[in-house]
Amino acid sequence: MTLIGVIALQGAVSEHVAMLTALGASVREVRTPDQLEGVDGVVLPGGESTAMARAAAKVGLFEELAARRAAGLPIFGTCAGLILLSERVEDGAALDGFATVGGLDITARRNAFGGQLASFTEDLSVAGMDGPAFPAVFIRAPQVVELGPDVEVLARTGGDGPVVAVRQGNLLATSFHPELTADVRLHRYFRAMVRSSQPPVDV
Ligand code: GLN
Repeated sequence: MTLIGVIALQGAVSEHVAMLTALGASVREVRTPDQLEGVDGVVLPGGESTAMARAAAKVGLFEELAARRAAGLPIFGTCAGLILLSERVEDGAALDGFATVGGLDITARRNAFGGQLASFTEDLSVAGMDGPAFPAVFIRAPQVVELGPDVEVLARTGGDGPVVAVRQGNLLATSFHPELTADVRLHRYFRAMVRSSQPPVDV
């Protein structure tokens, strides 16, 4: 059985837990480094990235997660989670110098669409996704403003606008909140990433 950890320091935790559980994964809420032991993949939820980084710093959680990420652990970051996975954040001082997780060769711009009142939903076309457009919920969302050569763009707003979903190897990140919709396709995509990263089981 696939065990997925959801970083549960702050933000939209329960919605991710519910969606992953509905997909048949075992889910563990993770607040301390030792709770990462044995997880096959990790979700970094949306919320407020500085608040999350501050809470994580108290227990060294993101240092441990970064080490496991570098060793190949699949991670799915949504909104603030995308910011925490970014190697570079514009106005990086806004994260107050706390450790983040990194790994994605991108520069993120926080609150790039505006503040809370500029939250919106847009039906997005996602690369490789069959069926109807994905109902993407943006809340004080970041944009990917620069990306390295190994980063695959999965979605842009307005078709050819700002980049809002990316994949790089074992890392998946969206500026929007798929856990706040009824559409499980991105979580299913992540679960498939996790499964394909697990060693084959001898039978
Ligand atoms: N604006 C938030 C940040 O900078 C992210 C918002 C969200 O996760 N919905 O961390």
